[in-house]
Amino acid sequence: MSLSCFDPRFGERMLSVDEALSVLGESLAGVMRTPRSERVALAQAPGRVLAETVISPLDVPAQTNAAMDGIALAQASLPDAESGEPLSDRGELSDHCQLSVIGSSLAGHPWTGRALAAGEAMRITTGAALPAGADTVVMQEQLEYRSTQGEGQGEGLIESDAGERVVIEGVTSIRRGQNVRQAGEDIARGSQVMAPGQWLTPAAVGVLASLGLAEVAVYRPLTVAVFSTGDEVTAPGETLPAGGIYDANRFSLVALLRDQGIEVLDLGILSDDEASVSAALRDAATRADMVITSGGVSVGEADHVRSALAACGELALWRIAMRPGRPLAFGMLRATPAADASSSGQVPFFGLPGNPVATMVTFLQFVLPALRLLSGQQRLAKAEAGASATTLAQWQAPRLQLIAGETLRSRAERIDYHRGQIVLDDQGRQVVMTTGRQGSGILTSMLLAECLIEIPAGCATLHAGEPVMVQWLGSRGIV
Ligand code: AMP
Ligand code: MG
Repeated sequence: MSLSCFDPRFGERMLSVDEALSVLGESLAGVMRTPRSERVALAQAPGRVLAETVISPLDVPAQTNAAMDGIALAQASLPDAESGEPLSDRGELSDHCQLSVIGSSLAGHPWTGRALAAGEAMRITTGAALPAGADTVVMQEQLEYRSTQGEGQGEGLIESDAGERVVIEGVTSIRRGQNVRQAGEDIARGSQVMAPGQWLTPAAVGVLASLGLAEVAVYRPLTVAVFSTGDEVTAPGETLPAGGIYDANRFSLVALLRDQGIEVLDLGILSDDEASVSAALRDAATRADMVITSGGVSVGEADHVRSALAACGELALWRIAMRPGRPLAFGMLRATPAADASSSGQVPFFGLPGNPVATMVTFLQFVLPALRLLSGQQRLAKAEAGASATTLAQWQAPRLQLIAGETLRSRAERIDYHRGQIVLDDQGRQVVMTTGRQGSGILTSMLLAECLIEIPAGCATLHAGEPVMVQWLGSRGIV
């Protein structure tokens, strides 16, 4: 059965976070369009979402090369210990052998002469191509060079090595192929390296650079309009009137959005007035891919937002069994459809609760997953028990299981997100502690937060020492 986010029953009963996410996911799927793409220089690509399939044009590494400084040789041409030359003064058989050095292969200056023959070796540096006839590298620390001028430890590499001899210690331990990186061992020519939807992390741009790509196709960033609402809400820099409060939410939301590579339309503060709210929303819907407001969705004000939205779209007011952040408005604003097919004519709207912690927590649970979906991101397949690729929940912050470092209390009928810090206890275990007072207006509780501690519905008390799930906020998150 397909769920409609506008089903009136959702306004009456409490929705769990997971239910809300799955209804939200279905609604967004209906307006989902592949974002338009553009080509950018690789240096501009970090933080963007890849819009093309990348097939490797070459082997990486391009040639078989040395992973160590030393000598290259053919392992099969080495004598084993029994037949090794007696080298000690007392004439004992030892684990040594001697080869003649016919030249050098340096990084960036490969050997172009003849192939190595049995009994021969070649000086080689890390990253230099293996000469023909060689399959193995013996590291510098096992070598001693003997030139016609006398003997010496082979530390520094010399320009002309022909005629030198090298003594290798520990011959029997040498394995064929050791200290050698095979051509294509990282990436084989013609293989698929990345798919559209890949978030371009530092590692991803490094891999693209290793293929020699100077530019890539990425999706255009989404544009999101942000408003604060409330007659008491005052812009920082202005004098705070009696009964006023400075506008924290617009700044935390804009920062959260920018962190995701979103282009932000900061549209300021709206007074609690139906006409101005509906005019602003109608305008924002023509300019943005999503509209987010904070405040004005709690009981008492709900009708006001609902009527403002009724004029420009469809709205659902949800009561979600979570704290902080119980009321949440979700809707679709009508927009003038663009000439191309990149717009569905509907712009998702989130009305987040006004309390500053609730604003951030509801953003992380619902808006962030929605943005990741709409921005065209695809998650790399991850084998995880119970993981479902279809729900928006996959885009929430990553979850870790930790140990509660203190007793945590909650109301049993809802999930609580306490702001947490990860510390070592006196037994050296990683435990999670709350960041002090947890009211939904206490934004400083977010300041120290590395994670959100999930105290699940149905659990009123979580005792110190018990396992607990946390949402990690560190990676591409908010700390
Ligand atoms: P509301 O959801 O509008 O009922 O607001 C709930 C609480 O959050 C009230 O105490 C508001 O004053 C406060 N609040 C609303 N918007 C903001 C904002 N942008 N920055 C800081 N506090 C806010
Ligand atoms: Mg308000």
